[in-house]
Amino acid sequence: MKYGELVQKHLRMCNFYCTFVGRISIYVQEKVTKTMTDSVTRKRVAVIAGAGPAGLTAAYELLRQTDIQPIVCEQTNAIGGISQTVEYHGNRMDIGGHRFFSKNDEVMQWWQQIMPMQGHPAKDDLLLHETDKVYAQDGPDPEKEDRTMLLRRRVSRIFFLRKFFDYPISMKKETFLNMGFVRMMRAGIGYLWACVHKLPEDSLENFYINRFGRPLYEMFFEDYTEKVWGIHPSKLGADWGSQRVKGLSIIAVLKDMWRKSFGTKDNTHVETSLIEQFIYPKYGPGQLWETVAHDVQARGGEVRLQTSVTGVNVQDGRVTSVRVQTVEGKEETIPCDFFLSTMPLKDLVPSLQGIRVPEEVQQVAQALPYRDFITVGLLVSKLKIRNETKLKTYAERVPDTWIYIQERDVKIGRLQVFNNWSPYLVKDYENTMWIGLEYFCTEGDAMWNTSPEDFIRTAKAELAKIDIIREEDVLDACHVRIRKAYPAYYGSYYQLDCVRKFLDTVPNLFCLGRNGQHRYNNMDHSMLTAFEAVRAIRDNQLEDKTNIWNVNTEAEYHESK
Ligand SMILES: Cc1cc2nc3c(=O)[nH]c(=O)nc-3n(C[C@H](O)[C@H](O)[C@H](O)COP(=O)(O)OP(=O)(O)OC[C@H]3O[C@@H](n4cnc5c(N)ncnc54)[C@H](O)[C@@H]3O)c2cc1C
Repeated sequence: MKYGELVQKHLRMCNFYCTFVGRISIYVQEKVTKTMTDSVTRKRVAVIAGAGPAGLTAAYELLRQTDIQPIVCEQTNAIGGISQTVEYHGNRMDIGGHRFFSKNDEVMQWWQQIMPMQGHPAKDDLLLHETDKVYAQDGPDPEKEDRTMLLRRRVSRIFFLRKFFDYPISMKKETFLNMGFVRMMRAGIGYLWACVHKLPEDSLENFYINRFGRPLYEMFFEDYTEKVWGIHPSKLGADWGSQRVKGLSIIAVLKDMWRKSFGTKDNTHVETSLIEQFIYPKYGPGQLWETVAHDVQARGGEVRLQTSVTGVNVQDGRVTSVRVQTVEGKEETIPCDFFLSTMPLKDLVPSLQGIRVPEEVQQVAQALPYRDFITVGLLVSKLKIRNETKLKTYAERVPDTWIYIQERDVKIGRLQVFNNWSPYLVKDYENTMWIGLEYFCTEGDAMWNTSPEDFIRTAKAELAKIDIIREEDVLDACHVRIRKAYPAYYGSYYQLDCVRKFLDTVPNLFCLGRNGQHRYNNMDHSMLTAFEAVRAIRDNQLEDKTNIWNVNTEAEYHESK
């Protein structure tokens, strides 16, 4: 090889070597810079399962109180979970009827900060020339603005023997007349006997009998409770009673009657079931949660609809990522620092990967019972029942927000009168009534499996049978199924503690809300679990979750406020 060729070959090798080393060094430099930048700029992430009240409150509060990025994954296409509003042909349906009332001031203020109280009369106030309502100074005008809370009057009565009774039952002339002398005497004697002869409170049946006496229990609680749970109250735990009708008894009823006659109007001293006013978003509960979801996104959080959490990956005892799947079947693994779950415990436990789940925990979670729910929305030109109370109503319509149906010959449990929740739920408020018929069932049973058309036909016939509507007055109808509306208090519910203890061993996993804790939590309780979780994350107090689980169990949450 000549000298010149040798030099050229050497130069080519040098060139190749320099280029290779140069590229490697650039690559390494880029990698190092990216990792350094990532570690400086990468925000901590919290994945939240469920865009119901608990999940959205958690997302909103994380953005407000920390620098953590929330990613809310919601399996359905709707915001609000079971507190959503369903729209059908321009009429809006509140599934279950959601009163916005809490004994917790933080929750009350939170709602009103999202949607301020009305400063002017609503459509029905204007039609009625209602004057005794106090409107917020500088508050929005519901006739012109949408982001507003209305102040509503709670009226709910019991429909029994084709007549109306106060809910809760009150000792007044009409009650005696409607019940008849013999029934009333039996009720009085039964109550006096229950005062001196207390039964052990080991069932819901005994819980009610101790407070009302057997005849009143048989008249007003036995059938209704069985409709709700599909199980006789003698086989249900007393826990549901103590949460559902907290502190309610004949003594509470008498105290309330005394307060109404001589006392103050201070709601904070009234048992939950007796509260007479509540606040309510102009377009139903879903509107508030849609507004919160919008605000979460505006502040930089993510809300992904039609995205189910399918797996929760745990490494060295901590959640490191969450697997999600979209309706189109696209899968993704989202790395995270925290996981907040409002999904049912029954689904959460089997989704855990990378951690040994004890056999007992798996079995208890798998067997947790639920009650499901069907609502039929009926648009009618008028109801057959009329206003016979002293309350002023538009066109002499019944004043009730909802009515408990205690009649034994029908399956309907409750009737919602949406016109009275908010006039804005109804497309043509002045000429139509928009009502919701509520049925309790279990997914897979005969009621659940009935086709929507057949169900609507039966529902209309039932309401006509008990003289509430005429079938020919029905203008339109819809049918909605809601899964797991009620976490039930029987079966493996009584071994739930082992599930809770196991889940608490994972410090960055939080169980929030209603099905997330398998507790009969209302919106306010569900939100309070989110408040507590965000506080724990903010203050780095991840080991002890007692405050989160204690929401809606401690007396002070119910009674002392
Ligand atoms: C008939 C009825 C009447 C009621 N009335 C009132 C009332 O008057 N006042 C009141 O305050 N409360 C009321 N409630 C209770 C209220 O609806 C609940 O407390 C509240 O909605 C619970 O909020 P949550 O976020 O815990 O759960 P949910 O509202 O159930 O939301 C959970 C969300 O998680 C989603 N999800 C589940 N699994 C997954 C998964 N794997 N991946 C992604 N997403 C998932 C669900 O689709 C759902 O959207 C009522 C409830 C019912 C059934």
